[in-house]
Parts: sequence; structure tokens; C-alpha cells
Amino acid sequence: MAQVLLPGPKPPASPSISNLVSTILKVTEDDIVPTLRESGKAGNMPFGAAILSKSNLQPVAVAANNFRKSPLLHGETNCIREFFEIDASKRPDTKDCIFIATHEPCSLCLSGIAWTSFPTVYYLFTYQETHDQLGVGKDIRILEEIFRVPAPSDTEESLRNRPLYNETNKLFTIKPIKQLISEITDEAGKKLAESEMERVKRLWEDLRHGV
Ligand SMILES: [Zn+2]
Repeated sequence: MAQVLLPGPKPPASPSISNLVSTILKVTEDDIVPTLRESGKAGNMPFGAAILSKSNLQPVAVAANNFRKSPLLHGETNCIREFFEIDASKRPDTKDCIFIATHEPCSLCLSGIAWTSFPTVYYLFTYQETHDQLGVGKDIRILEEIFRVPAPSDTEESLRNRPLYNETNKLFTIKPIKQLISEITDEAGKKLAESEMERVKRLWEDLRHGV
């Protein structure tokens, strides 16, 4: 009788970009947004974050901004705090996680992500969108006032045109979800992901009014 060979366990494959984008948007809508609604009832801003395990793309920690308790509890720093509340034996290594922020992280949160060694970060809204939508611009101001040191050759214009921080550096890589979507090679899949991203972004039209 012929022996039937059953397939053995496969090593986890890297998720496709399309799969990664749809997971990030789903976690944003299903896990982060309800947390923001709850936190908004206490008068907090709709900034949130989630940490996903890279192996199964499941959220390990989710949190909202809680600046009513402390001005340093941003969505990201609060999420890092929640992550480290998990028993060390039960949580993945930060190097095996993906960090998601609803808004481009400020300098405090970028440093928090660097201190805790999360290698990859994706965010939905840029600093400029955050400013235009929620009237919050302190993240840009802190980077410009504290960290933007002019070189002797800088003019006002060259200084203004210089990026506020290194998106790719030796500690982590950060990019907007919009840029991740632009890397999808299948045109139909790219269009679908773009419209899904815009739909999820529109959830903030209610969130910013505390609905
Ligand atoms: Zn922050």
C-alpha cells in the first residue's frame, strides 16, 4: 500500500503587501477605532496605536491616547506600556512585531519606538493631515524647534525643505500606509486598497467630534 505523505508544518510566509495593508486597515477599524471611541468619552484625542505579531498579524496590544491622565500617554506610548504589561513569557519579541500608529508619531513616540526596538512602523495620517484635521501641530513644532539644527550652509528655504526626521534609519523603518499601498504591484489591488484606506480615514470625521 502506498504511503500517503502529509504536508509538514510550513514556516510562516512573509505576508504580501496587499495582505499586510488589509490587515492594518482591519485592525485599525475593528480594534483601534472602538478603543478611541471609548477613550474619547473621557475627552481624549482620537490618536491610537496597535502592535501586531509579525507571525500571524494578530494584535498583541491596542491603546488610545490618554492625555487626560498624563500628557505623555500618547496612543503609541500607551500602547508600548500595555505591551510591556504582558508577561515576558507570553509576548513576542519587539523585533517580531509590527507597530501601527493612526497618526504619524511625534518625537516622543519615535524615541519610544526606538528605545523598545520595534523595527517597522506604519501610520495612517501624516503630521500635516493631523494639523489640518485636528488642529494639532505641536509634533512638527517640537521637531523644528528642538531637533532641526541648521548647518552653516543652510538657508531658510533649505532648512524648510529638509525632512523632519530619518524615515529609514538604523533603529527602525517608518512609512505611511499610503506609501505601502503604492508598492502593491497589481493595479486593481492597489486601487481597492486606496479606496479602503480612504474609507477607514473617514471614520475620523466622527471620531474628531467625539462620536
Ligand atoms: Zn506621540
